[in-house]
Amino acid sequence: MKVMVLPTSSVDIDSLWRATSVARPEFGSLSGDQSFDVAIIGGGYTGLCTARYLVKAGLSPVVIEANRIGWGASGRNGGVVSGKFRVGFKDIAARHGLDTARRMHALGLEAVDHVGQLVEELGIAGADYRPSGSLRCAHNAHTFEGLRSEATWMREALGDTGVSILSAGEVAAETGSHGFTGGMLNTHGGVIHPLNFVLGMAAGLKALGIVIHENTTVIGVRREGVGVVVETPTGRITARQLVIATNSYSDLTPATASVRTSIIPFRSAMIATEPLAGTPGAGLLASGRSYTETRRMMRWFRKSGDRLLYGGRGAFGKSDSASAFAALEKAMVRQFPQLASVRVTHRWSGLVAMTLDSLPHLGRLDDRVVYSVGYNGTGVALASGIGRHVAALVTGGSPDLGLLTRQPLPHIPLYGLREPAVRLVAGWYQFLDAIGR
Ligand SMILES: Cc1cc2nc3c(=O)[nH]c(=O)nc-3n(C[C@H](O)[C@H](O)[C@H](O)COP(=O)(O)OP(=O)(O)OC[C@H]3O[C@@H](n4cnc5c(N)ncnc54)[C@H](O)[C@@H]3O)c2cc1C
Repeated sequence: MKVMVLPTSSVDIDSLWRATSVARPEFGSLSGDQSFDVAIIGGGYTGLCTARYLVKAGLSPVVIEANRIGWGASGRNGGVVSGKFRVGFKDIAARHGLDTARRMHALGLEAVDHVGQLVEELGIAGADYRPSGSLRCAHNAHTFEGLRSEATWMREALGDTGVSILSAGEVAAETGSHGFTGGMLNTHGGVIHPLNFVLGMAAGLKALGIVIHENTTVIGVRREGVGVVVETPTGRITARQLVIATNSYSDLTPATASVRTSIIPFRSAMIATEPLAGTPGAGLLASGRSYTETRRMMRWFRKSGDRLLYGGRGAFGKSDSASAFAALEKAMVRQFPQLASVRVTHRWSGLVAMTLDSLPHLGRLDDRVVYSVGYNGTGVALASGIGRHVAALVTGGSPDLGLLTRQPLPHIPLYGLREPAVRLVAGWYQFLDAIGR
């Protein structure tokens, strides 16, 4: 069997999160043959939370991670805790009806609340969770009008009193950036240290006696008897059921090929500045929320400690490139001229998992395999909240998850053409942004 070699550049992530992480809990790799009720591939929010709820249901899970815990998107994301999906609730209502939009909205809020509960129950102080809300900033009059109508609809149709509209002046006062025409404040959610969050989950699981194997790559899965056999280079795991929790990293080996073609991995990058005290940037983003703007090729920003983090999708290909980071830095200074002389100390990126309908998918491939993938760049709350629903599916339940459990898993047509397609779509979005639509 062919063993895949993981890209070593991805192992050394120069992230601010890594530089400021708590001590890691230690986990060994698999050695020999072991048996569990459920084998989970992927040591991020999805896999770890699923394990937690499986234990609550009286089952014995094992989490198998090819790298270290949090190596995937869970340890390198922006730490924005939000109950939103990539597709808006108003669009969901237009396409699937108001009841479905209400259910999806409730699922999002539930996932946000779950983050706070998890941090408290597992005592993850290092996660530094701040439920400070988020502000969506309109980059032109057209998108501001869209935000106004969305906020009105959210209040009237969903009864969501957590959203309100801010004027251009209020957005400028909040952000220190003067180019926005207004914004929509959302009091749900906030910001978190994403790597410490996932490391804290793993430490909590370890304290519960849950087995986690790091540096153990699943290279094959086969059906045998009444269950599955999970093959790794250093041993085998026999289990009755399998959970695939590999999201945007589902192409590391062919073992997860069954979900790989439902996802388009899209690179998303971030930079972090030096501490801003004593620089012209001191005082920016003082309310500590997360901020996004309305461009399709969305940029977003937040503070962590006294540093400003700036992120975006765009001219990033298969791996990081100096010119792509330089473009991000240029965009940051355009947005915040106060940062022109401020040093950028960390640059990193990761893959988000886009799906055809811009929604996550949770379901059963067959009688032995459950998956949860496709968070479309909004998985901090969702992926960790979804663990309990994945566990419910594994134990034979059928939770009401709105559009998340639509079956069968939709696959991307012409998957082999995904890279030029991503470049094409990114170019089209940049064009629409440039002409203000
Ligand atoms: C740069 C960036 C910024 C983001 N910002 C935000 C944000 O601010 N807010 C938000 O809500 N979401 C954000 N996201 C998305 C969010 O991080 C993800 O949706 C979430 O972390 C997904 O968690 P997961 O556990 O499903 O997957 P992951 O955390 O990616 O875990 C999957 C794991 O599976 C492992 N794996 C894969 N194949 C195998 C195998 N064969 N054997 C063993 N292990 C395997 C991988 O090593 C990986 O660690 C961002 C993502 C990126 C990349």
